[in-house]
Amino acid sequence: MRVGILGGGQLGRMIALAGYPLGLRFRCLEPSREAPMGHLSALVLGHYDDPVALDRFAEGLDVITYEFENVPVQSARRLARHTPVYPPPDALEIAQDRLAEKRCFQELGIDTAPFARVDSRDDLEAAIDDVGLPAILKTRRFGYDGKGQAVIRDAGDVVAAWNALGGNHLVLEGFVAFRRELSVLAARGRPGEVVCYPLVQNEHRGGILRLSRAPAPDLAPGEQAEAERIVHAVLDRLEYVGLLAIELFELVGLDGRIRLLANEMAPRVHNSGHWTIEGARTSQFENHLRAVVGWPLGPTTPHGCSAMVNLIGRAPAEAAVLAIPGAYLHLYGKAPRPGRKVGHITVCAPDHAQLEALLARVRPLVADRDDPSAGPSLTA
Ligand code: AMP
Repeated sequence: MRVGILGGGQLGRMIALAGYPLGLRFRCLEPSREAPMGHLSALVLGHYDDPVALDRFAEGLDVITYEFENVPVQSARRLARHTPVYPPPDALEIAQDRLAEKRCFQELGIDTAPFARVDSRDDLEAAIDDVGLPAILKTRRFGYDGKGQAVIRDAGDVVAAWNALGGNHLVLEGFVAFRRELSVLAARGRPGEVVCYPLVQNEHRGGILRLSRAPAPDLAPGEQAEAERIVHAVLDRLEYVGLLAIELFELVGLDGRIRLLANEMAPRVHNSGHWTIEGARTSQFENHLRAVVGWPLGPTTPHGCSAMVNLIGRAPAEAAVLAIPGAYLHLYGKAPRPGRKVGHITVCAPDHAQLEALLARVRPLVADRDDPSAGPSLTA
């Protein structure tokens, strides 16, 4: 079977690496000749909105998917006229717009931060009255890794936030005093069956994911079930096929009860699921492929505990990482650049204590390799 992937970054590369053992073949559409996918699959060089490139890309493919969610929805719909495209373009459209996404959560009874639409300076004043401060002003579209966001702590920050982002379609979100950030990843197959991975705990710095631990330690009773309820509801509502990630804020109420708020969804494989390559019985990449191709989904049971450390900016020496037993190195074939995800390291161990011991050996290798403006490296 021939699978087309819109986007040629590291996510597409890891999808292809999961698919080759299953006999799948890949072609990607990608505007850059240097893309990580270029090293291992046929690549059609072209822009996502170029009809000639789209037609050349789609020729003879059995199914098309994305590794990049900012593909124009019209392009996805055009391709879907002749070839199945999963996740469905309607899901892509909702996930591309933070406002539509939050409304979708709301309709399904899933809690979010308070939010309000902002298209003008007057809207912003009204939104602040509505949502309260502190708050975060975000662009509705094309934000990633914390880009397109401005924190408004008090009235003195409003002008700067508006100067930075005004003119875009925006959403104001109340600032959530979360205890930690979690993500839930699940796949839904073509017939509608769903498999869900254990909750992942994520640490961000400078808006970029640095470290994921899975399964998330110290979950409250019922917390995994609540996350599964959330992701299942969204998957079914969107008639989704493929892997979906939802980023969650974990809150502790005054009564000590844990609450999960949905922050955003990614209609694709997700950075917080890279640990599943070595750490789960079926990786997120393989389950995504199984779903879009129409095959049965694989078990998501974890092998003990895993942690994934992103390599940001540049990678450490391969030999230094590989000298740590239980550490797995993934390099994406990208040139070093501050703030860029160039690879990741996964460590796996039978329990959390041994995992932390391994992480302590990985940390010195990744410290100071990052963009110096992003502050200190991994927190303990
Ligand atoms: P996002 O692009 O929405 O995933 O935001 C990037 C990061 O900013 C998140 O992972 C959080 O660490 C932080 N963040 C985003 N929205 C909020 C919020 N409403 N309250 C507190 N922190 C937030």
